Amino acid sequence: MCFVSLRKVRVAGAHVQGCGCSEGGVPAIPHSALCPQWPYCRKRCFYCSFNKYVVPAVDEAAMGACLVREARTLLRLSQVQSVTSVFFGGGTPSLASPRTIAAVLEGVAGAVHLPAGTEITLEANPSSSDTQHLADFKAAGVNRLSIGVQSLNDAELRLLGREHTAAEARNTVEVARRLFPGRTSLDLIFGLPGQSQEAWTRGLEEALRLSDDHISLYQLTLERGTLLAAQVWGGALPTPAQDLLADMYQAARAVLVAAGFRHYEVSNFARKGEGSCCREARVQTLEPDAWMQEVQSRGHGTRRRVVLSPLEQLEEVLVLGLRTDEGITHARWQHVSPHLSLEAVFGAPGEAKALQQQGWLVLDSNGLRCTWEGLAVLDSLLPDLLCQLQRCWAPPATPVHHTAGTVAAGP
Ligand code: SF4
Repeated sequence: MCFVSLRKVRVAGAHVQGCGCSEGGVPAIPHSALCPQWPYCRKRCFYCSFNKYVVPAVDEAAMGACLVREARTLLRLSQVQSVTSVFFGGGTPSLASPRTIAAVLEGVAGAVHLPAGTEITLEANPSSSDTQHLADFKAAGVNRLSIGVQSLNDAELRLLGREHTAAEARNTVEVARRLFPGRTSLDLIFGLPGQSQEAWTRGLEEALRLSDDHISLYQLTLERGTLLAAQVWGGALPTPAQDLLADMYQAARAVLVAAGFRHYEVSNFARKGEGSCCREARVQTLEPDAWMQEVQSRGHGTRRRVVLSPLEQLEEVLVLGLRTDEGITHARWQHVSPHLSLEAVFGAPGEAKALQQQGWLVLDSNGLRCTWEGLAVLDSLLPDLLCQLQRCWAPPATPVHHTAGTVAAGP
């Protein structure tokens, strides 16, 4: 369940992320997010290491039935009373039929309270998102789209092995904005081999003109086993320079903030507030056929539940909280750590104090958060902060058990 992954999570089936607390070792999650995964794609993008499968045919009826059954099982096991957000991820969930998406939503609504206005997001690939298909998703209950644009440059899209062209991506965003006004997000990738700062900024500005109120930026990560990594490591393509990557990220932040976006999370920018928290998720079986067999035989494809210690829960709060521009409030910290305040841990002489003096971190009456500069280098700050937390930590006399777990990232 979630250690909370710092990257996009791709697993087969559904997983539940919840907010709430449990006492006496019994997990109770009044409000939760549900993330059904459609793990199939039409082709493999050259950079992708997510858990996805390219198969000649998908047994959509069986897959849909398993998604419904597992969602209901996990909601029951986690004692979820209300689902406040549903996120259909993948793979490529826009390859699923709107009927299947509707069936999953009906299955969830039949098991728990699904309030009117619940945010229901679907990740859409421009290659499988014509106007009628998107309209049918809307009719099925989807009210927000996250579109994998990645780039608006055809040469870059070919380098990434994307199936769609820039024109198709533009058209998908325009259609999506008409159908889902104020609720269309764009994913973009930067740091491609050979990409210049100017090309990235130009592309971002074009994406900005096209965009709605939400943009997600991801730095390209070269993952072992992908074609793109093999091309770079084999010398066929240039390695993106670290300094250039840092400059690209900083330039993007400046462009987006100047355009009125709030940088509310390391990878995410919005013109209106968004946020999240995570207290429970489960490690699900990755491979779809095995996952379906498990769901059919026992209702869910959970392979592992991890009970986090109180210290591990605090580490989770620290790692997730510092990714957001609001950081960790005193109230949020105290909720998980009533006996050890933020000041007691990070106000004491040590690594955190040094990071505050160097301008990366702020600890004040609002809580602990990164500065603008610190947010850009968060990954390099966290090891020091985690060390300091571990040193300061003393278990409470009577531990309170919360159930949480880790999510499985793609292979
Ligand atoms: S990047 Fe997305 S569309 Fe491409 S292979 Fe990976 S999951 Fe599929």
